[in-house]
Amino acid sequence: MVYADFTSQLNQRSRQQILLERGTATEKQLSTPVATWLSPDRLHTSLGWEFVLILRTIGCKYGRDPAGGCTMCGYLNDVPQNPPSEDQLRLQFHEGCRIFEQQIRAKNLPPASVTFKIFTSGSFFDQEEVPPALQADILSKLGDYPTVAEIAVESRPEFVNRLDQSWLAAVARKKHFDVGIGLEAVSDAFRETYIHKGFSYADFLASHQLLKTAGAGTKVYLTLKPPLASESSSIAEVVHSIQTLLALGVDTISLNPVAVQQNTVVDFLHHRKQYRPPWLFSVLLSLELGTREQNLHFTRILCDPIAKGKDRGAHNCRDPGCNQQSLEVLRSAITTQRFENLLDQTNCSCKILWRDSLALL
Ligand code: SF4
Ligand SMILES: [Zn+2]
Repeated sequence: MVYADFTSQLNQRSRQQILLERGTATEKQLSTPVATWLSPDRLHTSLGWEFVLILRTIGCKYGRDPAGGCTMCGYLNDVPQNPPSEDQLRLQFHEGCRIFEQQIRAKNLPPASVTFKIFTSGSFFDQEEVPPALQADILSKLGDYPTVAEIAVESRPEFVNRLDQSWLAAVARKKHFDVGIGLEAVSDAFRETYIHKGFSYADFLASHQLLKTAGAGTKVYLTLKPPLASESSSIAEVVHSIQTLLALGVDTISLNPVAVQQNTVVDFLHHRKQYRPPWLFSVLLSLELGTREQNLHFTRILCDPIAKGKDRGAHNCRDPGCNQQSLEVLRSAITTQRFENLLDQTNCSCKILWRDSLALL
């Protein structure tokens, strides 16, 4: 636990910096979503579109706690010191819907072709972030859009575990409803030591059970290479996590290789050349080994690394062609959901350096 204490101290330092540097939002910003975009996406049953709406809220409760926050998460950098009122949050949602309606008209999208993802850089089900009446109104309105096939939100398990199951079931009857949970790793010791996540696998399982009984899906985020974990131990944890979650039958596994975000432990170590984001080869190997001889029938696997191919995100060597090749292999694997022999489809000489890095503990 000494190691976990050390991570925790580093983490508190970075968190305090974020809390100090947070800006103040204007009235207009408080009534406007952080971002919206429409782009192609893989739906559960076919290829389609995602519409992402990011609401500006008070931010993740766990992240705001000076002793809390995850070691790789920089979401709080974008959260203002002054939170929006419920009315302002409603205006943000209405603005998001206006943009959504405009964009689906412009593209003439057919019925049931879009996943509507509504994110808060925290937990949608935290009543401090999104008041309960607004949560209900948002999900009811999205359920009425014929173009929407799926709805996705994100939340920590402690907020999911307090939800009314019959209400969740009513939402899930209208649309395929996915709740994303940042489990990061199935091993409690790995998650707590390197990520400082603040909840257990048992907490996650309780959420998964509740969602499953309500007819909703669980989307699990896994992290590849948190700070202070070696490349090889991170791959081993992701492989074990994918195998465990496939056996559990979760709806979606989304693998997130760590990217360097400002004012985090990752950022602190990266500045001192003590952290390198994961190799793209490691991403491919984790997916290949994690899915080998496994049943992928019930689970969709996603991976779209942030800052891919760049210094601050998952990358191989400095040759853009090498990164491009690995990213193309990854993109094709996600589209086809076939993960055999991924590493054999890449051939840069830097693979030798990567293999050497796997020997470092
Ligand atoms: S990763 Fe999620 S739970 Fe952790 S601090 Fe960020 S928003 Fe909060
Ligand atoms: Zn290379």
